[in-house]
This record gives sequence, C-alpha cells and structure tokens, in this order.
Amino acid sequence: MMEDQSLFPGVRIVLVETSHPGNIGAAARAMKNMGLTELVLVNPQSFPSKTAIFRSVSAADVVNGARVVDSIESAIADCQLVIGTSARNRRIPWPMLNPKSCGEMIQSAQAVGQKIAVLFGRESSGLSNEELHLCHYHINIPTEKAYSSLNLAMAVQIICYEILRARQAGQYDVVEWDMDFATAEDMQHFFVHLEETLVQVGFHDLDNPRRLMTRLVRMFNRIRPDKMEISILRGFLNAINKNSSD
Ligand code: SAH
Repeated sequence: MMEDQSLFPGVRIVLVETSHPGNIGAAARAMKNMGLTELVLVNPQSFPSKTAIFRSVSAADVVNGARVVDSIESAIADCQLVIGTSARNRRIPWPMLNPKSCGEMIQSAQAVGQKIAVLFGRESSGLSNEELHLCHYHINIPTEKAYSSLNLAMAVQIICYEILRARQAGQYDVVEWDMDFATAEDMQHFFVHLEETLVQVGFHDLDNPRRLMTRLVRMFNRIRPDKMEISILRGFLNAINKNSSD
C-alpha cells in the first residue's frame, strides 16, 4: 500500500452510481494529479474493476483505496460542507458556486479542519433533486448552452484543479469559529425532528407537503449551523414536543 500523499486530507470526492468503471479510474487519476486521494463510491455498477485500474494509470492506489458505500447519506455523514455538481439548472434554485469560488471555499473549509464532500452524479441522469437537496451548494461548470453535460471524469478534473489552484494561489479566507459545524448526519437528524414537530403542532400536513421541508432544508443549509446551534434547536423542538403532548 502506498503512503497517502493527499494534500487535502478530509476532502472527499463522491461518485454516485457510476456506470462505467473507466470513469472511476479516470476520475481517480484526475484527483491524484491535483493532490486529492479520498474517493468514495456509492453503489458503483461495476467495481472492483480492471478497467478502472487501467484507466487510472498511476492512480491505482486511489482506486484501490476507494471506499464503497450503499447510500449518499453514509458517504457524507461526517461532512460539514457538502457540494453537489450538476449539469443543469434545477427547479428550486439552490445557492450556487462557480468552480473557482468552489475551490476557494473548499480550501477555506479544509484549512480549519472541516470534512468536505463533492458529489458527482450518474453518467445517464446526474444527481436527483433529493440528492442535490443534501448539499449546501451546487456547482455548475459553465459550458456552451447547446451541450452542458461533461464527461464525469472531466468534471472531476475541473473541480479538483480549482481546489489545487486555490491552494497554490493562496486566494482563500481562513475563518476560525468557536464550534465545529454540524455534520450532514446532525442535520439529517435535525430535519427528521423538525418535520415530526411541524406535524405534531399541526403546521405541516404530510398529505399535502407542498415544498415546506425543501424550503426549510434549503434555509438551514444556507445558514450552515454549528453543533451548538443545532443542539439549541433540538432542545427547542423537545420543549415543543413535550408541551404539545401534555
Ligand atoms: N445527463 C446528466 C449529466 C450527467 S454527467 C444530466 O443531465 O444531469 C455526469 C456528472 O458529471 C454529473 O452528474 C455532474 O456530477 C458532472 N457534470 C457534468 N457536466 C457538468 C457541468 N456542466 N457542471 C457540473 N457538473 C457536471
């Protein structure tokens, strides 16, 4: 096993349900060229794969070290910054980054020890809206309008390049905070609790949900609460739960 040469420990590239193992290998190579080594595969269609190793050339260590998981939730559970890539604009707009500002934001977050995931979707259909709603930000790589969908590994290349470039250019802010930011898992538990409470107090109707939860998820992801803020909110919900069941 080669020594981990990651310049970016804690920065994770997540490939969701990749169909072509060649793309996994090419993505691993793109990562290693830019100093990233942490690869997570969510339900890859064909893996382990000789084609993936072949296409990775000298990044076989990244392919062999890839963690395979069966859900995006487990791929990102401990991450405090989650960014999703998308070739198309979606119906409910989400906070957007361009590749350059994404590189700078990831570099800033990594500089203060946060764990970060960048999600890449299926070759055929990208990431679903539900999957994109797990993210704090979306990135769209600008293209010619007539053909906006890049090859998966090429999209990985561009994002990883921008992460390395932000480090090399020193163009990022380092903002210290007194608390760790909430993880994706903390947020998931909070959203379940919030939804149950909204139902309990009669504000939210599961038979007619409209876009209430999507809007609340978007709002809280925009705030990026820290662990203390989430614990205050959970305490507040517990008090409501208790009062409305009396
Ligand atoms: N046909 C799909 C595109 C899949 S391309 C769709 O319409 O959504 C496979 C993956 O590569 C995407 O899920 C995304 O992660 C990445 N990708 C491709 N083109 C991109 C672009 N212009 N901007 C950001 N990510 C892109």
